[in-house]
Amino acid sequence: MSTVSAPPRSVTVRVPAKVNCELRVGPLGADGYHELSTVFMAVGLYDEVTVTRAERWSVTTTGPYAAHVPSGSDNLAMRAARLLARHMRVTRAPVAIRIDKNIPVAGGMAGGSADAAGALVACEHLWGLRMDRDELMELAAELGSDVPFCLAGGIAIGSGRGERLAPVLARGTYHWVFALSSQGLSTPEVFGEFDRLTTDISVPQPEPSPAMMTALRSGDPEALGDALVNDLQEPAFSLRPALRAVLDAGLEFGALGGIISGSGPTVAFLTGSSEHALDLCVALTASGVVDQVTRAKGPVHGVQILPGPTRE
Ligand code: ATP
Repeated sequence: MSTVSAPPRSVTVRVPAKVNCELRVGPLGADGYHELSTVFMAVGLYDEVTVTRAERWSVTTTGPYAAHVPSGSDNLAMRAARLLARHMRVTRAPVAIRIDKNIPVAGGMAGGSADAAGALVACEHLWGLRMDRDELMELAAELGSDVPFCLAGGIAIGSGRGERLAPVLARGTYHWVFALSSQGLSTPEVFGEFDRLTTDISVPQPEPSPAMMTALRSGDPEALGDALVNDLQEPAFSLRPALRAVLDAGLEFGALGGIISGSGPTVAFLTGSSEHALDLCVALTASGVVDQVTRAKGPVHGVQILPGPTRE
């Protein structure tokens, strides 16, 4: 006899942050956006997103970065849930969204995009939609250029604005240390600074470097450390000069490589092992040049549904 399980009343997912191991910025398109080529890696620093059936839409946030997250319809998780409900014509759609926020806000680690990706998957499951993966990816891209990667996780090349993904042949586990800033940087402002500083108007079409692809295939953290590159690093330094001292300190304390993550201000350092990562965290904290440090491994999976949903 077959059994039909009741729909869940509540679904919780966890979603990782990302670091850009490579970020090349190309020419400005007619739509006002730059063509990008990036290599994303999902890292084990997670937000948890819980959606629960409710009478009306709401979003609440807990965790260390809760205070910096919008609580209304501007919240990216709320926008994602509503977009999915409209797209799939879900009746009785309202959900209460709870975000346990561990990814820094406006830190260049795609925290908002992670919550949007989490809300899509959690609501898809809550509403029993069984969607085609490509369709879900298209909705994700509508919400933001980093959202498809937050769904997918792992390591991937992103092109276009970062939303067109291609898999990367990669090996190994990488141990990262993140130097966090208490104040975020706005992504549009960093691109604006890139435009101001870039006088060469013939910026080439970006593409992933052979050095990066070789490093990831080899699984060698030293090679990856040497290959890290980010065209938004100088603009981020220009807006926040103190970040240069953070990068220098990490390299001096023995990191294999360091880079501004995305549009900053997080500075990501690569180390050779979890012990090395711990040592670097201690040294950076003692140096007094950083606001806060944390460490995480990558690559990790994209959105994952956590066990234990409550049933109606
Ligand atoms: P990226 O690396 O994708 O450029 P980021 O990490 O620099 O992004 P986010 O943390 O995604 O930046 O936040 C960008 C802005 O989005 C913030 O200023 C915040 O007000 C807004 N926002 C909306 N919803 C959320 C959310 N759920 N979590 C965090 N920020 C959100």
